[in-house]
Amino acid sequence: MTESSRLVTFYSREMGKVKGVAKGVGRPRSRLGGKVELFNLIEADFYKKETTELGILSGAHLINDFKGISEEPRRYGFGSAWCEVLDRASQPEEPHPDIFDLTYDFLDKLRSARPEAAGLLFWSALFKFITVSGYAPGLEACVSCGTEIETDRLMISFQRGGLVCPKCVEPDEPIMPITRETLDLLDRMLASPLAQLALAEINPKTGRQAAEVVLSLGAYHIGLPRNLKSFKFLDKLTDSGKPGR
Ligand SMILES: [Zn+2]
Repeated sequence: MTESSRLVTFYSREMGKVKGVAKGVGRPRSRLGGKVELFNLIEADFYKKETTELGILSGAHLINDFKGISEEPRRYGFGSAWCEVLDRASQPEEPHPDIFDLTYDFLDKLRSARPEAAGLLFWSALFKFITVSGYAPGLEACVSCGTEIETDRLMISFQRGGLVCPKCVEPDEPIMPITRETLDLLDRMLASPLAQLALAEINPKTGRQAAEVVLSLGAYHIGLPRNLKSFKFLDKLTDSGKPGR
């Protein structure tokens, strides 16, 4: 690789996650200049032999730069966190058009979101990601006995895959207690489109608890680390609490 070339990871509709060398991207007047940047959606001239790990990006046409994400720190932080999720939780060359479309939708709503809505957008998109990946938690009734849970004392077991009732829970079983408000918010995060969630006003405490549930689901099912690099950046911003951010 020459000095002016750069190793880039892309997320594509057709091939899922792929890595390639952006040839000569650092050169002045490069045809790739300004196009191969974080968050940019491009139409790429990309060649890759089946036998090699890396492809070659020789040309790119910019379709959408999602302008607005990089202009505001919280939007930037959560946008970057999404890219880390995509990178960490996808296998190379496994196409998932649903996840590609979800990514497009998320970046599209994030670019113009109010900064204080960026967190809910991110956690909702991540919850949808986990669900699309086949790990939707059971939140309707106790996942062990099927009884509807009437009390406000709700418990989630990540091992069992959802809500568990007081009768079924074992002594010392690892569970996470949640409030009825958090359960309602989690339902909304899955059922509502991101465009609607971008406008939602939520109780910050409820939002933090829902984020904690989604983060734990991500760690348990898709191997997400609890401390993404982007979270460290978000933690430096004054108004971010852990882990609601
Ligand atoms: Zn039960």
